[in-house]
Amino acid sequence: MNILVIYAHPDDAEFLASGTMAKWTQEGHEVYAISATDGSMGTRVIGRTRAQVAEQRKNELTRAMEVIGGHEPIGFWFPDGSLSDHREELKEKLAYSVRKLRADRIVTLDPWLRYEIHPDHITAGRIASEVAVFTCFPLYFPKQLEAGLQPHQPQEVWYMVPTDRAPNRIVDIGGTFEKKVQSLLCHQSQVEMLADWFLPDADPTRLTVEEREQLMSAVRDVLRMIAGGIGQRYSLQLAEAFYAIKTGPGHFDMAEEMANQMLKEMPRDVEIL
Ligand SMILES: [Zn+2]
Repeated sequence: MNILVIYAHPDDAEFLASGTMAKWTQEGHEVYAISATDGSMGTRVIGRTRAQVAEQRKNELTRAMEVIGGHEPIGFWFPDGSLSDHREELKEKLAYSVRKLRADRIVTLDPWLRYEIHPDHITAGRIASEVAVFTCFPLYFPKQLEAGLQPHQPQEVWYMVPTDRAPNRIVDIGGTFEKKVQSLLCHQSQVEMLADWFLPDADPTRLTVEEREQLMSAVRDVLRMIAGGIGQRYSLQLAEAFYAIKTGPGHFDMAEEMANQMLKEMPRDVEIL
């Protein structure tokens, strides 16, 4: 299976899905990561340039994908923070990647989370979903077909962090939890920002070796707490949770679930005509 994980920023999936991604690569699936933005706002250090931050984050994602066992990341590198200004270009590039890689499954951020405040997360998740539905139509970016690509539709879209509704895909990551930790730790620029939280007395721009080790172990504990909390509900030690929807004809497999959902939310005074 070809699995395309679409991030808004270079570390988005490492917190939420990298145990699952590593498991998939171990099972022989092809796992690709696309970062829509360059992550160039991701620093609190005054004096760094956007270009420097972007370069560091590109390298961090490359290393993380090595740990996960996936392909070298594909970067679109739109400017961090203003992805919504590039919606049309993002659609076209994503459609190209979905068709070129013949993606069977898309994994992305849930753009409908009620309190999702990051505009890049909303844009990435929304456009990824839209593209997954439209790439089967030859008249969607028809020039891509003239260039030799074929229409193609991914079967499913999986959303990370499905906190607004019950997940319907639980992945046992007991065997890949360590890879999850290591892949997240590849993102040193982001882990350093957690120093404020875990090591309030430390200067995050000049962490000592000991402080750095404390930070790593705090990150591991948080990941274990989250994965353990999800796993506990399903008699697993460590797990990641997703909400998956089917696209195309498979969408109708979910008709019963959709009807139940709709009925649950129906007002009591429904008028039947
Ligand atoms: Zn992000």
